[in-house]
Amino acid sequence: MNGCLFCKIAAGEIPSTKVYEDEKFYSFLDINPQAKVHALIIPREHYADMAELSKKDPALAGKMLKTACLVAEQLGLKNGFRLITNTGADARQSVRHTHVHILGGEELSDRMG
Ligand code: 5GP
Ligand code: ZN
Repeated sequence: MNGCLFCKIAAGEIPSTKVYEDEKFYSFLDINPQAKVHALIIPREHYADMAELSKKDPALAGKMLKTACLVAEQLGLKNGFRLITNTGADARQSVRHTHVHILGGEELSDRMG
């Protein structure tokens, strides 16, 4: 999608620190980490948020979760990790290209919101 930051990152037009990629997904480190390990995973195809992706392509949404877990394993998050998908304004989603946050590498806060 024209002008979308994460479409540009997936296409390699904006640099990022890649942690994983395949035909459908791209995963990279968050520029402003909220935990010792903080990566994002995005579908290469543009969907604004998880509500849209899960409606239009539930199989891809499921595969994204599976791949997020694979990335967590590759990042060495043996002791656990947290997956977060901010969806829409109340969740303060700031980039309107759906993404799952992968957080770990330390004990995370009790609070999730
Ligand atoms: P959201 O608030 O939409 O759930 O999360 C967007 C995330 O994208 C934030 O954690 C933010 O730090 C990250 N982010 C925003 N711009 C960039 C960028 O240009 N590069 C990288 N690697 N992460 C970004
Ligand atoms: Zn996009």
